[in-house]
Amino acid sequence: MHVVGPLRVAVVGSGPAGFYAAGQLLGSGFRVEVDVIERLPTPWGLVRLGVAPDHPEIKAVSRVFEKIARASGFRFFGNVEVGRDVSPAELALLYDAVIFAVGAQSDRRLGIPGEELPGSWPATAFVAWYNGHPDFQELDFDLSGERVVVVGNGNVAVDVARMLSLSREELVRTDATEAAIEAIAGAGVREIVMLGRRGPVQAAFTSPELRELGELGEAEVIVDPADLELDPVSEVSLAEDRSTARRNYELLRGYSSRRDGAKRKRLVLRFCTSPVALLGSARVEAVEVVRNRLVADARGELRPVATALRETIPCGLVLRSVGYRGVSIDGIPFDPERGVIANLGGRVLDGGGQTVPGLYCAGWIKRGPSGVIGTNKKDAAETVEALLADADAGLLRSEGGDLDALLGQRGVSVVNYAGWEAIDARERELGALLGRPRVKFARWQELLEAAGRPAGAGLDSPP
Ligand code: FAD
Repeated sequence: MHVVGPLRVAVVGSGPAGFYAAGQLLGSGFRVEVDVIERLPTPWGLVRLGVAPDHPEIKAVSRVFEKIARASGFRFFGNVEVGRDVSPAELALLYDAVIFAVGAQSDRRLGIPGEELPGSWPATAFVAWYNGHPDFQELDFDLSGERVVVVGNGNVAVDVARMLSLSREELVRTDATEAAIEAIAGAGVREIVMLGRRGPVQAAFTSPELRELGELGEAEVIVDPADLELDPVSEVSLAEDRSTARRNYELLRGYSSRRDGAKRKRLVLRFCTSPVALLGSARVEAVEVVRNRLVADARGELRPVATALRETIPCGLVLRSVGYRGVSIDGIPFDPERGVIANLGGRVLDGGGQTVPGLYCAGWIKRGPSGVIGTNKKDAAETVEALLADADAGLLRSEGGDLDALLGQRGVSVVNYAGWEAIDARERELGALLGRPRVKFARWQELLEAAGRPAGAGLDSPP
């Protein structure tokens, strides 16, 4: 062990990857101090602002992170954006090591005509809006139309389709924002159509999420039996599957044979159907779709190939749920193809493919937007192991200095952990008055006020 004082590590981003990395460093047996830096006044990343509001049992993972935040050597710097308030280069000088765990802050595109029309939104924005992300509260989703089309067949697509299907009674039990509850409960939406480009056997959603759709109070799931007729390759993969695809297929068969017509909303799941254009003069009025057939590629994977069968689905809103995408951080080598920081097992690589001692990454910005929350634990462990090995080899150096002094000079209004706890307590109190888990503050001003952080205050002032 070559480091004499405590190892000082900055973790950028306070989502699951950042918190797991912090926890693993603090529990490593090394003398470590960890500063977690987060651009929002609130921690937990997508656990607070991505995971569906009607899944409180998933959001409860934040209790694990709360325990990490209480460990000695941990500090939280909320409301501090790396790249705006402090640069990556400055962090590299201040700390022995920096771990970037900034997630995937953008979305993938469909690349079809009409994608930019008003009324066409990335599902990422809709998710951030109903969950109370303060950058997304001014967005105006027009929910007055009868039909919404959700493009995509993963769990995020299922989340947004389900959120649009919930009744007021179901919505008020969640921690969705008041504005979102009012907008969704008062909406004119009667039908939500989900489009999957491949077949039911290839769908990316998981079975519990699919089963849940059948238990909605106000929405009936509709599946056309013709969509469940399989091509020979899908039949073989279904016969060989022992878990997700088989369970999904059985659930879909159940939906296709059930129709009571008594519920107010219809949630239509369609397969082998891709959008080819969004149509409308001033805003989205319809989606033109094409029917696909599935063709095995050289590796035996089924790819959708468009047929001549086209159809137009009138709608007032399109939510494109075809994946999140990482964005580059100034000065940190980026792999634009994959939308991740260039890295080898969590060690950042320079332009020549050499590892840069002291710079690391974890979570979605390291491996891309895939996996569940727990996947980030193993992922962070690999990064922390690499970091500690580099510390042991004497590769890590800093010039000293303290981040709070630097931010104080710059007049950055840091929200420390006590500030977040003040926000959390106030949100829960407001929720208790209404019989809800919490009433979220979703505006920057409200969040900073609840944290007791007037603009310009330093880290050490009480929250
Ligand atoms: P994030 O959670 O995105 O955290 C990144 C953090 O970095 C954010 O807080 C961000 O504000 C911060 N940040 C970004 N840039 C900067 C900067 N420049 N300076 C400072 N801070 C910065 N998984 C499940 O297991 N179950 C689910 O039900 C589930 N539902 C999901 C629903 C949705 C809609 C989405 C998108 C994901 C869901 N996931 C779910 C997956 C899970 O949320 C991710 O695996 C996980 O959040 C990724 O962790 P991360 O730390 O890499 O990124």
